[in-house]
Amino acid sequence: MLEAAGIETFYGASQALFGVDLQVGEGQMVALLGRNGMGKTTTIRSLCGLTPARRGSIRFRDKEIRGLPAFRIARLGIGLVPEGRRCFANLTVRENLVATARQGEEGGEGWDLQSVAALFPRLGERAGQIARTLSGGEQQMLAIGRALMTNPRLLILDEATEGLAPVIRQEIWTAIRDVKGRGQAILIVDKNLKDLLPLADACVILEKGVSVWIGRAADLAGDAALQDRFLGV
Ligand code: ATP
Repeated sequence: MLEAAGIETFYGASQALFGVDLQVGEGQMVALLGRNGMGKTTTIRSLCGLTPARRGSIRFRDKEIRGLPAFRIARLGIGLVPEGRRCFANLTVRENLVATARQGEEGGEGWDLQSVAALFPRLGERAGQIARTLSGGEQQMLAIGRALMTNPRLLILDEATEGLAPVIRQEIWTAIRDVKGRGQAILIVDKNLKDLLPLADACVILEKGVSVWIGRAADLAGDAALQDRFLGV
């Protein structure tokens, strides 16, 4: 579904990615890992066209998307839950969800207000509440719900459980598991390996803007030395 090869991305004159390769297949969940500052968010921004890659190839459903503007990439079916949530603060929960709603390409079942409220009952209960008055965890749920409402082919989650209370974090993991169970392809960045690895199919580890290890999540989960080498502090 998504195949990126040799992505190189710059912030002005400063190069952040030096050759990132990654693939996400239909229905697959791929974890993008690496220590702080290794290029995970920049990789995601490159895939979405927010910080366009200067070199390399990004193929999404057999179409080259590198160089396309971000809104066109979103329309092709990449839904992003960005780091820091970024909901429309002055709109209600319902308005936030409706604002991004789009039918999947083939129509079909897809996500709507009802199914998002079933996934996150807290959002259903607070449909009329102004987003800025939600707790951090609820805003995160709203950010995920909003991305789902675009009925993306590929859902990208950047640090969706960061800084949340453990009980809220678990609610979000349960929802991610549910979404994955419906066959949704997911690319996810998250520091919480204990929750992430059992759920992920494959992993890509970044070091200094290069993908240095690509393999099965189960292999990484069972290899403490590998984890320590690339992810330990
Ligand atoms: P973290 O886990 O801390 O979020 P990350 O793996 O997502 O880290 P990035 O945020 O992609 O890493 O950063 C990769 C490199 O790009 C770092 O060296 C960082 O300093 C640099 N960088 C990130 N954003 C910018 C920016 N807006 N301008 C200049 N350099 C940036």
